[in-house]
Amino acid sequence: MKIEVLRIGQRVVRDDRVTTHVALVSRAFGVSKILLNEVNPDIKKTIFQVNKNWGGNFNVEFIDGWKNILKSKKDESFKIVHLTMYGENINAIAERIEQEKKILIVVGAEKVPREIYDFADYNVAIGNQPHSEISALAVLLDRIQHGKQFQVRYDSALRRIIPTNKGKKVVRKTIE
Ligand code: SAM
Repeated sequence: MKIEVLRIGQRVVRDDRVTTHVALVSRAFGVSKILLNEVNPDIKKTIFQVNKNWGGNFNVEFIDGWKNILKSKKDESFKIVHLTMYGENINAIAERIEQEKKILIVVGAEKVPREIYDFADYNVAIGNQPHSEISALAVLLDRIQHGKQFQVRYDSALRRIIPTNKGKKVVRKTIE
């Protein structure tokens, strides 16, 4: 399944750290690209440095407005999956979402415009309590991929962790 994430409504500076974490979770949980607007351009540098050290080619794209993106993604046959505490319970719809070939997951920051709810193919609640876009995204990505995202290994990585019960084991690639 091809998965992309659209982050909307970010409050400049105030939400920079949360947006960076939304991007880090996206990258580590099998998303290929995050689309962001109105953000600190340093976020892109941070994520590309993570790619360089830990591998993969997760992409960060800056956009002007979310409306055109939603329209063009629909034209490209993406299903729009909006994360909202008001949506249908994940337990009821995860199986349907995981059958899709291409999805664009929309996460908000502050109040999300009403149009998004109408535009979405799925309005999904990770429980009907308010919590966080970072946790909501992580749970959705895990539920629809059943942990497969954690089997990925990147040959391009400069650093690779050897999992261990105690301590830290990291192999570093030597560059000739
Ligand atoms: N009051 C805001 C609204 O109108 O949606 C909620 C803002 S919340 C701090 C930021 C984002 O976290 C939401 O837009 C949604 O994407 C995500 N989120 C928070 N709780 C959620 C839940 N229980 N289920 C799904 N997504 C959630």
